[in-house]
Amino acid sequence: MRAAFGGPRLLLRRLREVMAEQVSAQDRLDKIVVLIAANMVAEVCSVYVLRVDGTLELYATQGLKREAVHLTVMRAGEGLVGLVAQTADPLNLSDAQEHPQFSYKPETGEEIFHSFLGVPILRGGNTLGVLVVQNRAHRKYEEDEVEALQTTSMVLAEMIASGELSALAPPGQEPAARRPLRIAGEGLAEGVGLGYVVLHEPRILVKQLIADDPNKEMSRLDEAVEAIRAEIDDMLENEDVARGGEHKDILEAYRMFAHDRGFMRRMKEAIATGITAEAAVERVQSDNRARMMRQTDPYMRERMHDLDDLAMRILRQLTGAKSPTASEDLPENAIVVARHMGPASLLDYDRTRLRGLVLEEGGATSHVAIVARALGIPTVGQAENAASLADPGDAIIIDGATGEIHLRPTSDVETAYAEKVRFRARRQAQYAAIRDKPAVTKDGVEVRLHLNAGLMVDLPFLEETGASGIGLFRTELQFMVANSLPRIAEQLDLYRKVLDAAGDRPVTFRTLDIGGDKVLPYMEVIQEENPALGWRAIRLGLDRPGLLRSQVRAMLRAGAGREVRIMFPMIAAVEEFDEAKAIVERELTHLRRHDHRMPERVQIGAMVEVPALLFQLDELLPRVDFLSVGSNDLVQFMFAVDRGNNRVANRFDVLSPPILRALRSLAQKGHEHGKLVTLCGELASRPLEAMVLAGLGYRSLSLSPAAMGPVKSMLLELDLGRLETLLTRLIDEPKAGVSIREKLRDFVEAEGITF
Ligand code: PEP
Ligand code: MG
Repeated sequence: MRAAFGGPRLLLRRLREVMAEQVSAQDRLDKIVVLIAANMVAEVCSVYVLRVDGTLELYATQGLKREAVHLTVMRAGEGLVGLVAQTADPLNLSDAQEHPQFSYKPETGEEIFHSFLGVPILRGGNTLGVLVVQNRAHRKYEEDEVEALQTTSMVLAEMIASGELSALAPPGQEPAARRPLRIAGEGLAEGVGLGYVVLHEPRILVKQLIADDPNKEMSRLDEAVEAIRAEIDDMLENEDVARGGEHKDILEAYRMFAHDRGFMRRMKEAIATGITAEAAVERVQSDNRARMMRQTDPYMRERMHDLDDLAMRILRQLTGAKSPTASEDLPENAIVVARHMGPASLLDYDRTRLRGLVLEEGGATSHVAIVARALGIPTVGQAENAASLADPGDAIIIDGATGEIHLRPTSDVETAYAEKVRFRARRQAQYAAIRDKPAVTKDGVEVRLHLNAGLMVDLPFLEETGASGIGLFRTELQFMVANSLPRIAEQLDLYRKVLDAAGDRPVTFRTLDIGGDKVLPYMEVIQEENPALGWRAIRLGLDRPGLLRSQVRAMLRAGAGREVRIMFPMIAAVEEFDEAKAIVERELTHLRRHDHRMPERVQIGAMVEVPALLFQLDELLPRVDFLSVGSNDLVQFMFAVDRGNNRVANRFDVLSPPILRALRSLAQKGHEHGKLVTLCGELASRPLEAMVLAGLGYRSLSLSPAAMGPVKSMLLELDLGRLETLLTRLIDEPKAGVSIREKLRDFVEAEGITF
């Protein structure tokens, strides 16, 4: 093996000195390449930096012709340097010119060099550039030389990420490290947010890269990993594994990785090159993330996320950084960027300063998304890699309707969005102006608009939106954001406050809808193959009636002297409704017997979420006081499409005859039996869909607060008679499976309806 001159530790020490010198960015780079070349006994050392336009520019070289600096530019994927950037993997060749992707740049004079070692300059898994050493002789670089060069590249990564090099480049050709980025996510809660990045779990900045004593660093790593292993074992042994919000299988995966020999070996090899334990964890993790980004298998990606989490834990252990808590000093206009987040964490943030939320994971029906919508916080989910790409304090714009994220936006984008925000504010003012108007169509039909709610924070929206009442109060939200099972007194207190806030407006409480994807952090997780079809909602309530009984009691007591409306989720058979209703009757008897003040009136209803119920309506309707259609679940079961699975969620359009025929006959049955049928799924919150529901005969909808203005404005401009004629034709046409959305859009446009 060709011994490196002075070894990697000496090189790192020298680099540290150069980094501290008060010199220009170019001088610093020039010195760095000289040092690396000398240390690696290489005739060439060059640094290529990835630019915003996706090309790689030669920024400094020792050994190639100096005229080529800032002149040689490789296209994305071009040549060996492009290949290293593209794959984010080292490339080690004894004869570069024989490689099929070798691309000759005459201005560099590199034809005399044969061996080539290129490593990506990575930060948080993103490639910022490429570091290359070359020699005249044919030789393959040793494994430890590759390691050493990778470690050295971390210093360059910090330098590029600091923005120091940006001043050297003309506009449009700056280093890409801090370039404006557009990330396409999924809109989870409407609204546009302009602000500055706050990382939910701030990245731990490794300040000390270079170690003084490698042996000490090895022990530090061992101790940290040992502590983490013990911590994981503790958590796993703790019977109530779910309490900390960590699920057992995740912990099992952590444990597996914490004992993984390959993972440890790679960190130790990194330490052996002269860096600190924390820098070694970061090095290994950066490689892992780069690989993760190229990984398409969702299972593997998930595992890599676990590994990433584990690395964070080790880093925290090593640096003594505190576990992430919601930032005490939240800036004005904060946009929180998180990999994932539970609903309770969101509530920890100061609502008045929060302008938006970005999640790498999380779909429309995740709990945090439900809470974000309830709070009216613009939210984008499925934002790939957002938490690694964003730095705290970066300007960011998010659009919760389209799912678009602009990180470090250009001034054009900023102007366009500022205009959008102004436009929305104008629309908001228009909506406020129709707040007190009843939602009556042009031809005189009223559709009552109620709110979907679930938390105290929703209550002010009753006044703000002029809603007719609360059509769906999701009681499980109180349970989901709590750290332990809310006691009956707490439930009673919430229900009373809700009824007080509503005054004479009706409130429909839905009994606990947990199970499936709605997991309570403090309850044992039951493994089911198909949770959406499993032990959830009323099934759980009837099998374990204690919880349901106490909840019903709290509702009835809260409703003393007023009307109480209770509905049951996921009813699949008439008998289930009978059983649930019997619980209410039993509780009423109990209250009467104990001389409690009774509600003035009790109305009991069922949610229609299971298709089987559509074929029991003649039996069900005489028994209920009302029905409410949970279209989120009903549609997922009718199309057999998981509502949270993005791969299939958009496969079918709700606005197509099969669903609309079912919804129409449901509304008709309700009319025939003289029972109110409301629709409270997300469908009612989308103006075009809400228009169709009115056309199908729905006279009561329950929607999210933000949708109230657009839906009412649509209804005020609607000629319902004309829509009904069109719908009859479209729904009964023989092309049954096809979306009728476009035709409805044409109708909206021709009628001049705005929303
Ligand atoms: C629904 O399924 O449409 C519904 C309103 O219930 P949730 O979204 O809470 O499951
Ligand atoms: Mg549902």
